[in-house]
Amino acid sequence: MKCPECGANLRRGAKFCDQCGAKVIEPEKVLDFSPLVMKALGGIGAGLKILGGIFQEYARTIKEEEEKKEKDA
Ligand SMILES: [Zn+2]
Repeated sequence: MKCPECGANLRRGAKFCDQCGAKVIEPEKVLDFSPLVMKALGGIGAGLKILGGIFQEYARTIKEEEEKKEKDA
């Protein structure tokens, strides 16, 4: 792992660069974070898809009911 500021070699797990004192963002943590975000976004997307499916089914049922009523009348 290298310092993003000065390129010095950093100790494993170092939070700050020994050479220039720059704050080091651990790539492991960035990588750990993004799948969670993607998962959350995917969950929201799936939820919306399910809601959309339920709504379409509901709208179709109402339409069928109305068509039945029209035939009966
Ligand atoms: Zn540095």
